[in-house]
Amino acid sequence: MMTAEELHEKLSTVDTGVCNYTVEKCREYIPLVNKILQLKKEKNAIILAHTYVNPEILYGVADHVGDSYLLSDIARKSEQDTIIFVAVTFMAETAKILSPTKQVFHTNLDGGCSLADSITGQEVADLRKKHPEHTFVCYINTTAEVKAQCDICVTSSNVYQILESLENDKIFFLPDRLMAQNLQVYLKEKGIDKEILYSEGSCYVHETYDAEMIDYLRLKHEGIAVAVHPECAPSVTHKADYVGSTGGIYNYVKETGAPSYALVTECGLSSRIQVECPQKKIVGSCAFCKYMQGNTLDNIAHVLETSDSQYEVKLDLDLVAKASTCIENMFSEVEKSNSALLS
Ligand code: SF4
Repeated sequence: MMTAEELHEKLSTVDTGVCNYTVEKCREYIPLVNKILQLKKEKNAIILAHTYVNPEILYGVADHVGDSYLLSDIARKSEQDTIIFVAVTFMAETAKILSPTKQVFHTNLDGGCSLADSITGQEVADLRKKHPEHTFVCYINTTAEVKAQCDICVTSSNVYQILESLENDKIFFLPDRLMAQNLQVYLKEKGIDKEILYSEGSCYVHETYDAEMIDYLRLKHEGIAVAVHPECAPSVTHKADYVGSTGGIYNYVKETGAPSYALVTECGLSSRIQVECPQKKIVGSCAFCKYMQGNTLDNIAHVLETSDSQYEVKLDLDLVAKASTCIENMFSEVEKSNSALLS
């Protein structure tokens, strides 16, 4: 059980620009937080939460906090019978694909994603007919149906590594056109000649950032370090000191000593760093993802209490088998490329 003071101690450094976590605010959360902690124990459930969800979830009830790659790996290895995935729908689907015998619930019926919703499995099947020589690589931000049509999946933690190591030099990357353009630039700079075709999706949060904002921050804050997510446009990543996943950006901030940092990604990461590395100075504004914000303590308690079938992820077994191959290919490719680096 947790007290309001304990929750406040964890959250007192968070300033999202729209919410400060006062003791009074934490007192409002505490009955639900404790109800969830109790239910979680009774149901032998594990709560996995993406960095972009609200801090009262991350520090009140989550067992693990991270980016899609870390959470997928934890879901795969978890021993609990029930997984509560607090993020967006495609991530909960990924957990179900990796743990088909477990009950997996998501906690937000409107948990879409502008990337995952930008292309269907049928559209990928049609593209495959047009480009039979290409290896189809999908970003993890895709539905199970799309993964089932692709050869290999990637996350923002491993996309550069995997694209570099794939043997085929003809790649069809989907659904993020900006990430694909970043990959084109990266491979060209490394002197690697690969054709990268792509589909036209984008993250509505990350595409809003522009290069002028970074110029402005550098003028205002001497010595600032700018960390950018690869879902941003190449004109933005080009100006960054570091480009990587939320997990990568987190480690970059933790391990470096700049006087201040701008985190060009969703606001949740700034809150997480404010809590876990309060000595780091974060400046500049950030953008919220409306899909991630739809997750609430109320919904988590409801799902745990009722096992409401509306929230349960149910996937056809044949689909799970195909999508699972696509994701397992990612884990194998990462292992292969890590051993090549070590040898
Ligand atoms: S931040 Fe962008 S990529 Fe992430 S869930 Fe929201 S819409 Fe999708």
